[in-house]
Amino acid sequence: QRLRLGAQLGRDLTGILYILDEPTIGLHPREQEALWQNLVHLRDQGNTIIVVEHDLDIIRKADHVIELGPGAADEGGYLVFSGTAEDMAKDRDSITGPHLQGSRRLKRHGHKRRSHGQIILRHVKKNNLKDITVAFPLGCLVCVAGVSGSGKSTLVTDELYHALRCRPEEGSSKKKKTKLVLKGGLSAMPEVILVDQAPLVKARSSMPATYMGIFTRIRAVFSRTPEARSRGYKAGYFSLTRKGGRCERCRGQGSIDLDLQYLPPIKITCDLCGGMRYNREALGIRYKGLNMAEVLDMTVKDAAGFFARIPRIRRPLEVIERIGLGYLKLGQPACTLSGGEAQRLKLARELAKQTRDSTIYIMDEPSRGLHPRDMEKFILVLDELLEQGHSIILIENQPEILDLADWIIELGPKGGPEGGAIVAEGPPDTAKK
Ligand SMILES: [Zn+2]
Repeated sequence: QRLRLGAQLGRDLTGILYILDEPTIGLHPREQEALWQNLVHLRDQGNTIIVVEHDLDIIRKADHVIELGPGAADEGGYLVFSGTAEDMAKDRDSITGPHLQGSRRLKRHGHKRRSHGQIILRHVKKNNLKDITVAFPLGCLVCVAGVSGSGKSTLVTDELYHALRCRPEEGSSKKKKTKLVLKGGLSAMPEVILVDQAPLVKARSSMPATYMGIFTRIRAVFSRTPEARSRGYKAGYFSLTRKGGRCERCRGQGSIDLDLQYLPPIKITCDLCGGMRYNREALGIRYKGLNMAEVLDMTVKDAAGFFARIPRIRRPLEVIERIGLGYLKLGQPACTLSGGEAQRLKLARELAKQTRDSTIYIMDEPSRGLHPRDMEKFILVLDELLEQGHSIILIENQPEILDLADWIIELGPKGGPEGGAIVAEGPPDTAKK
């Protein structure tokens, strides 16, 4: 996106309408300022620029702001505000206004934390990293920052994550030179989980209900209804991946891929089940008045209420809601989730697990595409994990989030060959200096 924008800058075009989708994603504040100067330049040449953006600095500087909302999905879709950023900060209906004005700031709910030990990664030289040795405090919120190409991902997702995953068997005879050193209270290396923004799973039948492991429980509930018992329908009958109650024309997808030979295939709604995914017999089975198709069409929030008396179904749904995804539908195909939604759903699945050993959660730019209001919910969940004694390492450049960190590691000073060194490390106050 930035390359395409760069190509436009050299041309003296006027009267063009440019539309940009979250151009500040992953940018260091310094890079963001450069991007802004480019946008101003295009505007002053006589062009119009429309930016879809959550970043408060960009919103403050815009000539005109349009806010949609107030909630997500069915609770959104209204024009909440239209006008200058100055008026928006004072507007009573605006959700973003209080954040612009500064009266509502992101904050941690727990205390700032002291580390209970650290993991030291020694002599890292991969890509542009300059033979650095980095200490990651445990039990804390650690942010790794730096301009694009400074080596953040190489350090965290390539080197640290892999070193933790591929550690040698304890007590193995070969004493390999280990890159990792554990210091402090823990007796063993913690587990590590990478919560990234990659798509969930490739299976066509994947949806929030299957991903969270509650679909089998919902099927069991339906199989225990008197009607299902009398007809002999077991839980497997309501599966979408095998024959039984599913619609056989679309094989439980609700849609059929139409091959257009030279064009990409398109999806059309199944003409037999009308997108309901089940056959008529299966749809005749109802639990509390709803059939399977209607349950899959429910939002997570509504379903948590609907299954209130079945904790094994309700609890995972409540976790999804807490993380700000209550608007997702149970049966929504996983391929329709954005990268950020996929990342948060992965985190929700981790949170819903009952017992966990001490774990390091690594997340790549979780603030990407999140409104400050959603970010508040996300921070709440991070605090919950820290409270349970886990550790969190974020790759993050947003100043509001860096401010909340217990420890910051900044790589730089530039991107590419001139990056890969540690510019600053310590609590936010130290990094500021
Ligand atoms: Zn069908």
